[in-house]
Amino acid sequence: MGVEVSLDEFGLIERIRRRTGARADIALGIGDDAALLQPQPGQQLVVTADTLNAGVHFPQQTPAADIGWKTLAVNLSDLAAMGAQPSWCTLSLSLPDASPGWVDAFAEGFFALADAHGIALIGGDTTRGPLSLSVTAMGQVPAGTALRRDGARAGDDIWVTGVPGEAGLALAFWQQGLLDVSRPAHDAAMEQLRLRLARPTPRVQAGLALRGIASAAVDVSDGLLADLGHICARSQVAAELLERALPVSTAAVVGGHEAAFRAHRATAGDDYELCFTAPAALREQVRESMSCVAVRATRIGYIRDGSGVHLRNEEGVLQSAGKSGFNHFPG
Ligand code: ADP
Ligand code: MG
Repeated sequence: MGVEVSLDEFGLIERIRRRTGARADIALGIGDDAALLQPQPGQQLVVTADTLNAGVHFPQQTPAADIGWKTLAVNLSDLAAMGAQPSWCTLSLSLPDASPGWVDAFAEGFFALADAHGIALIGGDTTRGPLSLSVTAMGQVPAGTALRRDGARAGDDIWVTGVPGEAGLALAFWQQGLLDVSRPAHDAAMEQLRLRLARPTPRVQAGLALRGIASAAVDVSDGLLADLGHICARSQVAAELLERALPVSTAAVVGGHEAAFRAHRATAGDDYELCFTAPAALREQVRESMSCVAVRATRIGYIRDGSGVHLRNEEGVLQSAGKSGFNHFPG
């Protein structure tokens, strides 16, 4: 659109750097060979990295601001699943070209989410290449209090935040040519679904509130069955999910897409909700902690001895996921 002057590497870094500020826990930020960070005493450092590639992790037509948001969101979601307070992040950009408009829009989405969660950008790398965005996010937890995948025990409840499956439904609609990811949808229900895909909400406050309550946690990036399967594998237990207990999407119902939603919700990824387990004795504490942070949480099943994840209705097992992946129609 129009003639945009391409930025050189240093102009680009400067455009990003000017959005960052000074902080007591950053002795040295962007501009040197590396950053110097000041963790708080008694805290463990929580570190995670995630890369998004154009055409693989988001449609090529996705607006730059949405890409900026999502690049950080998927990393904050991993910190949330550990119960960590976000602190710092780095950003590695591989860009085919560097138009100031694209970089500013990307930064707008990225920093909207970064500022909301108090995570500071402290460095990164900038190269020319196919569009690819990589973040390393760092957070802190009081030593020994992180939420892990290996703590689920037989008898624990299984919970999930939000409504898993909405982002997957939006992606399916885009693949079918029913949803344009490059602009807001006119229809309110469709727009709600598009935002679930374009601007997922990392459940950082929920993760913090679940410290000392949840026995295990994971974020739902690859689908409920698959990600809950990671908890089961690491905890050496089985999960029973009750189909009638799974959250229903009002956006899907209003839009008349309930059947499509039901078909997706257990296996579709990209929601970045938290799935966690907690002792049945702490049910009220889970409800209270989630209402304190204004996050919807639904009890969807229970942990038992055994292995794999099993989704049931009144008639029997609908879907199972074991170590080898999915079996959509078990015999
Ligand atoms: P070096 O060549 O020593 O790695 P660079 O010229 O790549 O240094 O980077 C200069 C400074 O800018 C460093 O502090 C680096 O962390 C920071 N930086 C580079 N790219 C980005 C980026 N995309 N986002 C944030 N900081 C960046
Ligand atoms: Mg470098």
